[in-house]
Amino acid sequence: MTLQQLVRPNILAMQPYTCARNEYSGEARAWLDANENSMISGLNRYPDPLQTEVKCRLAGIRGVDVANIFLGVGSDECIDITYRTFCRPGVDNVVAIEPTYGMYSVCAAINDVEYRPVLLHDDFSIDEEALFAAVDANTKVLWICSPNNPTGNAYPLEQLERIASRFEGITVVDEAYVDFSTIGSMVPRLQRLPRLIVMQTFSKAWAAAAMR
Ligand SMILES: *Cc1c(COP(=O)(O)O)cnc(C)c1O
Repeated sequence: MTLQQLVRPNILAMQPYTCARNEYSGEARAWLDANENSMISGLNRYPDPLQTEVKCRLAGIRGVDVANIFLGVGSDECIDITYRTFCRPGVDNVVAIEPTYGMYSVCAAINDVEYRPVLLHDDFSIDEEALFAAVDANTKVLWICSPNNPTGNAYPLEQLERIASRFEGITVVDEAYVDFSTIGSMVPRLQRLPRLIVMQTFSKAWAAAAMR
């Protein structure tokens, strides 16, 4: 399936809000177009809504195109936004390995999306047969945390690519702990896997959880 077929129709049809910072981005002595307070406090101006500068820095550090970066208020917001973008409440479902990070099921409940946990094997490897047996025509997202919280093991990149290629919806690989592992990242595979989302965070190895 294409991304256009996977995105909720109302999201695809939506006209984004354009703020004053979108419409003018040059230098100016006085800015009055956003009704901000002009008292300089370091916080009085709205920031760049597309976070262009920091994305350019991150693109260099992580080897990924600026156009492919989305910054959330923590991965937790990215998880919620994934549901809101792809899953129709009361209609669509998601599949996840089990046990795994708890926020995937919390956000499923918030968004009224059915959550289908699939038990890992006893050695914490993925039961691919059971995973795909849980998938049906309304399965929009597959959650795989690697290295997995709480089991601590990481999955081979070839296996994750095989799963992401076979699954017709959005595969999310949550790499919150990738910097603690030698297994490597799925980021270089983003170009050939258009339905793959890779999540990383400033909260663990980067010691910046409060940056949200
Ligand atoms: C801690 C954690 C997160 C949350 O990250 P934030 O960026 O702080 O929201 C996401 N995924 C996993 C697997 C985590 O353990």
